[in-house]
Amino acid sequence: MADSYFPKGMPLPQGGMHDQEYWAWTKRHRLMIQRCTKCGTFRHNPIPHCFKCRSLDYLWVDQVPPIGVVYTFTIVRAPAHPALVGRPPFNVAVVELSRAGGVRLATNLVDMNPNGKEPVSQVARWNNPAKVPAFELDPKSIRIGMPVEVVWEDHEDVTLPLFCPSTDPEALAAAERHTKAAPPKTAPPKTRGAA
Ligand SMILES: [Zn+2]
Repeated sequence: MADSYFPKGMPLPQGGMHDQEYWAWTKRHRLMIQRCTKCGTFRHNPIPHCFKCRSLDYLWVDQVPPIGVVYTFTIVRAPAHPALVGRPPFNVAVVELSRAGGVRLATNLVDMNPNGKEPVSQVARWNNPAKVPAFELDPKSIRIGMPVEVVWEDHEDVTLPLFCPSTDPEALAAAERHTKAAPPKTAPPKTRGAA
């Protein structure tokens, strides 16, 4: 039974000079996002100063519930690392955090309903530390703008935020706003010289 979305041997985030605190929070199953205390701008990934007003003052803002919408995603079909041989297809998604000014983070989406599938991970829901199996999310069911919430995948030295489809009312409302805010499709460019 797989206990992580990616096979053993897949490199994990190491935590650098500016994001060690972020990863220390994820270890405690808390999704904390930096917010500038001078101008209120959220930012992610963590950096020491505000990209908008240059202030060095910030707070870590807890995301409770840690919800968002799928901003974009792709289905990977070719292994990009030796540890991934045999693993594709899998998804890589960018999730927009609804409670943090729409900052985005890269992640993977999992399904909490087995639907006859074998688990691909063991995760904890954001509001319950008990480990439960998670499953591959059918690529055909992934949609831009779909409501999602965090589940935590614990590794020895780091805990990863994955996301699963959410029925949280706030996530559903965020998805509704996201759909309405989507820009209209632009008309294809006119072909010069066309009859
Ligand atoms: Zn600022």
